[in-house]
Amino acid sequence: MESKSSNLKKIRKSMEKTLDSKRFEHTLGVEYTAAALAMRYGEDIMKAQTAGLLHDCAKCMSNDKRLSICEKHHISVNKIERKNPFLLHAKVGSYIAMQKFHVHDSDTVNAILNHTTGRPDMSLLEKIIYVADYIEPGRKQAPNLTEIRKLAFTDLDEALYRILEDTLVYLRTVDGDVDPMTQKTYDFYKEYMDNRKS
Ligand code: FE
Ligand code: FE
Repeated sequence: MESKSSNLKKIRKSMEKTLDSKRFEHTLGVEYTAAALAMRYGEDIMKAQTAGLLHDCAKCMSNDKRLSICEKHHISVNKIERKNPFLLHAKVGSYIAMQKFHVHDSDTVNAILNHTTGRPDMSLLEKIIYVADYIEPGRKQAPNLTEIRKLAFTDLDEALYRILEDTLVYLRTVDGDVDPMTQKTYDFYKEYMDNRKS
């Protein structure tokens, strides 16, 4: 039987081929940042690495290709996704993780599926991937990055909340479409943090 770490190696190799070099570097950054967070919070390290490696596996394909994969495999596409098909890389990515890389663990699949918008009441692994995607060492331009990076290792929920907040502010300033799920996730964690403080 082949070991699980050789599976990670295979996925890494495949990502090197399918992603452009910038995206591949980002992917490696998310992989080891997710592993570090998994160590800190007691999550399965290999699951964190697998989800980190695959989270953007559908990022470097054309919008037409993403839309055709959705159509072919009956993956639902909402209005905002149709207008901005790059948003579909999470849904399509989770599909590819299952079909091509035989990832059967539902938490790992969900971490890939929900990495762009988050969702209310995320699992630990989902939070780890969401946060790792934002703080990995290759990221340079987000506001408050230094503080959020530190927070990620002291208070994961607070880091998550701050990322959601900054993401919404950013999307509004660039007049980008806000996926309703991003707003829902923010609302959930705002209430969660408010309750935690009181
Ligand atoms: Fe992504
Ligand atoms: Fe990413």
